[in-house]
Amino acid sequence: MNSSYKPKKIILTAGPSIGKKEIKYGLDAIENGWNENYADYLIKFENEFAKYIGVKYALSVTSGTAALHLAMLSLGIGPGDEVIMPDQTFISIANAIVWAGATPVFADIEMDTWCLDPESVKKAISKKTKAILPIYTYGQPPRMNEIRKIARDHGLFVVEDACPAVGSLYKGKRAGSLSDIAAFSFQGAKIMVTGEGGMLVTNNKKWYEKAASLRTHGRDPKKTFWHNDMGFMYRMSNLQAAIGLAQLENIDSFVKKKRQIFHWYKKRLEKVDGILLNDENDWSESNYWMCSIILMKKFKYSRDQLRAELLKRLIDTRPFFYPITMFDMYKNAKKVDTKNSYHTGLNGINLPSGINLTQDEVNYISNQVIDLLSA
Ligand SMILES: *Cc1c(COP(=O)(O)O)cnc(C)c1O
Repeated sequence: MNSSYKPKKIILTAGPSIGKKEIKYGLDAIENGWNENYADYLIKFENEFAKYIGVKYALSVTSGTAALHLAMLSLGIGPGDEVIMPDQTFISIANAIVWAGATPVFADIEMDTWCLDPESVKKAISKKTKAILPIYTYGQPPRMNEIRKIARDHGLFVVEDACPAVGSLYKGKRAGSLSDIAAFSFQGAKIMVTGEGGMLVTNNKKWYEKAASLRTHGRDPKKTFWHNDMGFMYRMSNLQAAIGLAQLENIDSFVKKKRQIFHWYKKRLEKVDGILLNDENDWSESNYWMCSIILMKKFKYSRDQLRAELLKRLIDTRPFFYPITMFDMYKNAKKVDTKNSYHTGLNGINLPSGINLTQDEVNYISNQVIDLLSA
């Protein structure tokens, strides 16, 4: 470890690991993945992904958002229906619910997991509620058993937004295997990437087939160019699947590295007074997609000033997602009190968490954070 380490260029918040295998499979798909081989990597990627998560079906799509949209439609969620989701998350989830014709209802997160608070969900339930949509905030699993119990008691579906959580575990079970339908994302900042891309997973054949049909314009699987529904064009390409398959074959080492990065941060930052880290619980194992801190008291620098100061020291960061009900499109949405979503949304920072980060870089970043927060 070198304590005088100084970065030569900006340390980015995210970044994938691309190796020889991705290039090999990618080139093979370019050369050979056409005509009768047009779906070879897609089929392999879907099969291996289902096996890895521990579910029966996996359907590759263009994005995590597309997977969430298809999840809503496959479950028959539409006009007049409400879906409960956290206010603290990416806007795409709310949009996917609205695209399906349904209404998002915003509940709060816990300060412990930074995920959907089961008590808040109970307050948000109405006669119109059809589903609960918990989200794996930066990789950390939500309290799935508590959420599933509420769903059982009220006859609701559970859709997991496991978009950033490939490899996270809830009580030993993989993220994405704990609900009716789950969504994953392989967007370029995620733990495994295909450029853009996503996956819908489920154990239910009927929902899988419905999603598969809607993915390609609602087509009939048995009759060429016959359409039973008005669907979408949400197919992933074989080229992307080639990269995805290579990434999946390396996922264990990616998760291990991300966990290592978090523990490097934790060792340095856990003693800093007034900040919260996204440490896992004894019932969860996070893939630590993003290592993050939340400012819990007043420091000399506000969140945004701290980010600006870090940038001067060549450290790129991201703010947390602003609470969705802050946006014009959702400011009149139905919600319960979401004060934790507001506190985290305005005081949270994602620190650099890319897979190729080194311990020297993490120590450098930690030192700068400590320096600025003790000013
Ligand atoms: C990345 C992400 C999404 C969106 O995924 P896309 O592939 O960009 O559509 C949705 N939800 C969460 C929690 C995410 O982290």
